[in-house]
Amino acid sequence: MKSLTYLDNNATTRIAPEVLEAMLPWLGEGGYGNPSSAYGLGRVAAAALDVARGQVAALAGCREEEIIFTSCGTESINTAVQAALAVDPDKRHIVTTAVEHSATIKLCEHLAQRGYEITWLPVDSAGLLDLEQLAAAIRPDTALVTLLWANNETGVLFPIHEIAAITQRKKVLLHVDAVQAFGKLPLSLGDAGIHFLSMSGHKIHAAKGVGALYVNRRAKFTPLLRGSQENGRRGGTQNLASIAGLGKASELAAEHLGSRQVMEWRDAFEAHVLANVPGTTVNGDRDRRLPNTTNLSFDGIESEGALILLDQDGLCCSAGSACTSGSVHPSHVLKAMGFSNERARASLRFSFGRFNSASDIQRACELVPAVVEKLRALSPAGSPVLVA
Ligand code: PLP
Repeated sequence: MKSLTYLDNNATTRIAPEVLEAMLPWLGEGGYGNPSSAYGLGRVAAAALDVARGQVAALAGCREEEIIFTSCGTESINTAVQAALAVDPDKRHIVTTAVEHSATIKLCEHLAQRGYEITWLPVDSAGLLDLEQLAAAIRPDTALVTLLWANNETGVLFPIHEIAAITQRKKVLLHVDAVQAFGKLPLSLGDAGIHFLSMSGHKIHAAKGVGALYVNRRAKFTPLLRGSQENGRRGGTQNLASIAGLGKASELAAEHLGSRQVMEWRDAFEAHVLANVPGTTVNGDRDRRLPNTTNLSFDGIESEGALILLDQDGLCCSAGSACTSGSVHPSHVLKAMGFSNERARASLRFSFGRFNSASDIQRACELVPAVVEKLRALSPAGSPVLVA
């Protein structure tokens, strides 16, 4: 297999070797017990769940009993939103933003069809919210404010602590989609004023198909999946191997939180491209964003074509989010930031991770300018073409 330069860590990450090692015992002989069984084999499994819960809670900065294991970030989001709506069925208004992940967008669209009213807050050209507008959008019948901590496409961060101060003052529930922030930023949930917060394993070098939901110990909670597991808060026998891996991945992420390496790689790549490719713009606020993400627009190119050429050279990155790539629709995030279809379609997201190396960065610094130049040469000035 040709060597890969993987710069799509916001889409998913590779499983860390230590994580795989932590998972394997629970897939083999001696580790297949059901954590709910009372005999030794089950008790060993239950103890492994406890360890993982402690590791996830340590990274999130909360108590162990505030963590519920789920199957993914999307399940966590769905669970949190329906739990919030169940608190007072008379409250049928939700505040969210125009730049959410499709998991939240699709859920809110579904709820709108069922009679809920949704306020989609706009963002400015840097991808940031107007907090006064957010405060003004909250009404007596608002059940919930649900929004991202870190945007998956641009990496732009919403000021969650300031937002939590507003929702606390207005006495409204807050759910945060922290799927991209978890493991990349210190969350210190403690008494942050957040009621629910969603996390996912596969963004932090754990397996796909495992996630977690933080539920503040004082928040009223109604399960989405009913059953006896997770203290009756999430039915279904736990995916022990993946949960053990998520625990290990959380422990490793905590160890790496202080490292600036990933940000230095991102910054070096971004500076190189800005200096060497005229007509390049960074999309989103450059100060308030994840340390691993850069979203760039290249005048006069079509990102789908760039993805194909870069893939031929073994470089993986994204046009828009992974969930919408493969379609030629311009990213809803970039459109919400007020960009033209051309600029939105000319954008690529590069997201770095700790398994990258200096040679990956060097390779990307060579390949990306060359591909942009090639595409521009193919397309008459000002009329981007889709290279198939
Ligand atoms: N929220 C954000 C911001 C994401 O980036 C993703 C995944 O891309 C999700 C939610 C969904 O997480 P999962 O893939 O675990 O369902």
